[in-house]
Amino acid sequence: MPKPKALVVGAGVAGLAAALRLKGSGYDVEVFEAASHPGGKMGEWASKGYRFDTGPSLFTLPHLVEQTIATVHTKTTDYFNYDKHPTACTYFWEDGTELIAEGQVDAFSHKAAEVLGGNTQTIEKYFVEAAEMYDTTRGVFLERSLHRWQTYLTKDVWKAIPKLPSLGLFSSLHERNKKRLGNNDKLVQLFDRFATYNGSSPYLTPGIMQMICHLEHGIGTFYPKGGMSSIPKSMFNAGKDAGIVYHFGQKVEKIHVENGKTKGIAVDGNNHMANVVVCNVDVRSAYKHLLTDIPTPKNIVRQKPSSSAIIFYWGIKQTFPKLDLHNIFFSEDYKAEFDAIFSKETLYDDPTVYINISSKVDAADAPKGCENWFVMINVPADSGQDWDALTRQAKAFIIEKLDRMLEVDVESLIETENILTPPQIEQKTSSQGGALYGSSSNERMAAFFRQANFHNKISGLYFCGGSVHPGGGIPLCMQSARITADLIANNPS
Ligand SMILES: Cc1cc2nc3c(=O)[nH]c(=O)nc-3n(C[C@H](O)[C@H](O)[C@H](O)COP(=O)(O)OP(=O)(O)OC[C@H]3O[C@@H](n4cnc5c(N)ncnc54)[C@H](O)[C@@H]3O)c2cc1C
Repeated sequence: MPKPKALVVGAGVAGLAAALRLKGSGYDVEVFEAASHPGGKMGEWASKGYRFDTGPSLFTLPHLVEQTIATVHTKTTDYFNYDKHPTACTYFWEDGTELIAEGQVDAFSHKAAEVLGGNTQTIEKYFVEAAEMYDTTRGVFLERSLHRWQTYLTKDVWKAIPKLPSLGLFSSLHERNKKRLGNNDKLVQLFDRFATYNGSSPYLTPGIMQMICHLEHGIGTFYPKGGMSSIPKSMFNAGKDAGIVYHFGQKVEKIHVENGKTKGIAVDGNNHMANVVVCNVDVRSAYKHLLTDIPTPKNIVRQKPSSSAIIFYWGIKQTFPKLDLHNIFFSEDYKAEFDAIFSKETLYDDPTVYINISSKVDAADAPKGCENWFVMINVPADSGQDWDALTRQAKAFIIEKLDRMLEVDVESLIETENILTPPQIEQKTSSQGGALYGSSSNERMAAFFRQANFHNKISGLYFCGGSVHPGGGIPLCMQSARITADLIANNPS
């Protein structure tokens, strides 16, 4: 009997992961990707001896990548290897306060209390609560489809129900942090920052996001051997060896749907037929350009995008011993910064600056005596702003801030530069408005409005990726691929 066939549209991390899992469950799989390489938002750029990962820089839950590769190969280390990074982040405030955030909860809590003031036990208690929230909800919100009634019959849901009132669904993350951490503004700002993990505002996203700090400190941050872009490369190599067929430079024009059933796809005027199609393209873009025979669901139309970013990739001809792999230079008024991003939809004039320096871990990423700086600020998704002007302003704001806080002349140290803006992110990946994480989680019920992993009226049509349940960021994309592949395996067409 011939094997069942599945077509995957898009080779972002979730598309690559779904392809591996489908192959592992016995499907013949073909992946069609518009770009010339796998990875989507996880790109790479090199210049003058510097190497940069152009997309994600912070990596948590690496076992999800391992588990995915393990669906087709028993020895995952042939493809993918990583190390735990001892510290989570180095934080800088304008008044000169600096905090090296240790990876371990107890070390971090002691150090944070010492440097920022506050009580070690209060911080430890915050982490205990975050860990409990993660354990209570992951089986419900992160590992299963929220849109199938079967989910609501599982043990995990029944275990979570009595804990619902304590999950922070009815207050914002900022309100919750203030309640738990008191009037310690720096500590509250540090924990508010975790809202940006999925492109949201701490003043709007629900308190349940407290659980995110558990990923960074309770479980840890990691760095893949070869850099972040080795994540999609590893999955691609594992897939090729397992017999998945990849087509690059192949922009899918249409997903064919007839009489409530998926029939296949059209690429370059040719039809490729299959009863199962997994769409890894940003859903708003997919409904607009690929699924033109069916209406865009109302919940997708009304969704607000997550934040986007302006990123400067700078080759810096100096080393900075006080900087680490992840560094954050906070703004003085976090509330005004998030208002600018989400309400005014513009640039804030004192943005929080994130600098990632992978050469701190892998010296080969920069020439000797130099560092590769990935310098990012959060900005709104594109809605027609003048990005040339905003990018010029952003560079000036960033340089002014870093000159002040690091006491250097940053501009004179830049040997090579590249820039990524929201319209460029959209143009490269079809992510609407250049949103980094699909839709924002600024609404309490956002998780329920996100696109389900399947289409409820079209059989054989599935979705995975950052704009789909359970959301954006590498770990959730990996989970979305798993949920989607499991749904397909349990509903063979
Ligand atoms: C600058 C930046 C920083 C980030 N930082 C982090 C971080 O530190 N940690 C973290 O976990 N996450 C981070 N993220 C988010 C993370 O990158 C995304 O959530 C994740 O990579 C999205 O993967 P995806 O599978 O949804 O697909 P995408 O990466 O969006 O890829 C979709 C793919 O579909 C392809 N495609 C589109 N249309 C078509 C078509 N018609 N035919 C064929 N192919 C098509 C595109 O070319 C693309 O390759 C960041 C993102 C960016 C941009």
